[in-house]
Amino acid sequence: MERQVAISSELECLAELLGRARSAVALTGAGVSVPSGIPDFRTPETGLWAKVDPMEVAHIDVFEHEPERFWSYYRPRFEVLGDKQPNRAHEVLAELERRGLIEGLITQNIDRLHRAAGSKNVVEVHGSIETSSCRTCAASFELEEMDGLFDERGVAVCSVCRGAVKPDVVLFGELLPESAMARASELAERADLILCVGSSLAVYPVAGLPQVTLDRGGRLAIITKGATPYDADAELKLEGEVDEELAALLAALG
Ligand SMILES: [Zn+2]
Repeated sequence: MERQVAISSELECLAELLGRARSAVALTGAGVSVPSGIPDFRTPETGLWAKVDPMEVAHIDVFEHEPERFWSYYRPRFEVLGDKQPNRAHEVLAELERRGLIEGLITQNIDRLHRAAGSKNVVEVHGSIETSSCRTCAASFELEEMDGLFDERGVAVCSVCRGAVKPDVVLFGELLPESAMARASELAERADLILCVGSSLAVYPVAGLPQVTLDRGGRLAIITKGATPYDADAELKLEGEVDEELAALLAALG
């Protein structure tokens, strides 16, 4: 049994905001996947990777010039992510879309769990581990195929042309794909409610999206632990566990 969050007046307020919204959009970050056992890399880590700075290793320059080092860090992560399952937070967000209460979902997460939970209109602004592509011949490989691509150095090489295969995720040092950001901005512009879940709203350009909605007269609701730069602008803020808060929201919606 999952723990139940009592339906507070704030949850009722959020349920009402969602019910009244003409076009609501959800924006999610790493906090949504924490209940699935995927740590937010910005929180201090223990164990094997405690001394590795992801911003330094998961960088396009390291991928290009030190592929063995890149993959020694990235391959285990990649494999761990591939085994993870959606949690209640992902499921509730998918249900909100099915019920027509949110129009789409913008996520900073690369773990593909929103799609796995059934969300359809998903904009993955940082890409996804779902596929990887050869940088030479553009051959595309599913996550399940990746294991067969690693050579004796532990570097992923294309089975067609032996070119370098890169995960279709945005690495540090890379720009966000324009098409994804354009779709995300369009959703934020059209939204009269943006529901931000599990994101500290600190990483740009995604962190600018709530402002886009606010500037157009839309409202903002936040479910996340810890402070965000938007707390003062939010209609309401819930600070419990994201999966429990969202489960309670669904109950409040009836
Ligand atoms: Zn190739």
